[in-house]
Amino acid sequence: MTSDAAEPTALTPGGINAVGRILGLLGDEWTLLIIQQALLGATRYGEFMERLPISNSVLTNRLRALTENGLLDRTVYRSRPVRAEYLITERGRALWPVLLSIWEWERRWVPEQADRLPGMRHTACDSDFAPTLSCQSCGEVVTEKEVTAQWGPSGSWPRSVPEAVTRRRSTGDTSRGQAGLFPETMSVFGNRWAAALLVCAFLGTSRFTDFQAQLGAPPSLLASRLQTFCANGVLCVSRQTGPARTCYQLTEKGRAFFPVIVTALQCGQRWFHAPEGPAVLITHICCGKPLLGLLTCDQCALPLTGDQVSVG
Ligand SMILES: [Zn+2]
Ligand SMILES: [Zn+2]
Repeated sequence: MTSDAAEPTALTPGGINAVGRILGLLGDEWTLLIIQQALLGATRYGEFMERLPISNSVLTNRLRALTENGLLDRTVYRSRPVRAEYLITERGRALWPVLLSIWEWERRWVPEQADRLPGMRHTACDSDFAPTLSCQSCGEVVTEKEVTAQWGPSGSWPRSVPEAVTRRRSTGDTSRGQAGLFPETMSVFGNRWAAALLVCAFLGTSRFTDFQAQLGAPPSLLASRLQTFCANGVLCVSRQTGPARTCYQLTEKGRAFFPVIVTALQCGQRWFHAPEGPAVLITHICCGKPLLGLLTCDQCALPLTGDQVSVG
């Protein structure tokens, strides 16, 4: 592990904050899948190739980007010919709670995924389990209704949206074509404004004009994201009396995405530091402490760790 990978990245003053940076990372499905395989023990190029439906150019490109971002550490273990392996860093490992939450959400809420994705077993209690978001301070289970969120010193919508995807593609890189393994998660993270819109909905925004005023996003984009979320059942439309009273509300499926959002925010704020301070401050209303989310086992209530979770 390189030492700087274990240190947070210092962000540019006034630039994209921790939320924008983590959303940018999570917006690439190959990144998630490669990290997932690395967590499951893959280290060599051939192993990633074998385990993922990925092309050579995309894998090469992603391994380089993940190494540059400090999520994987490239070590040459043989010089002639050069053979390298990619070891997951502490920073890469920190994505585990996010991946676990995504896995659970897709399995439980995306119809065809229940058969496609294997269940998870907690070896500590020898049970099939679901991860539950708990508060590290008071130990209680946390839901979206029991937290308040406010911007920290580096927080604002414009700073919390990832950069527009202008990433230059090398010839033959079909990287924009995603894997399609977590399609609905990618409908949240794979579009520049979608995650911000969903967080806005969690914070209570429900009308089109309010989403627009808060986010400052182009109306056509907002309309299309809202449509996607309604189509996959993350949001639903309710009409109140009066003119233009269309409200977009989170469904149970949408609310169940909360642990993904919290673990992602937490991971972002752990590894990306804006000089002004944090982007978002979340408080657990029940204990009044800043929320430090922890994933626990719904069967035995113990905190979950990577070495005690088996898949399949
Ligand atoms: Zn608490
Ligand atoms: Zn357990």
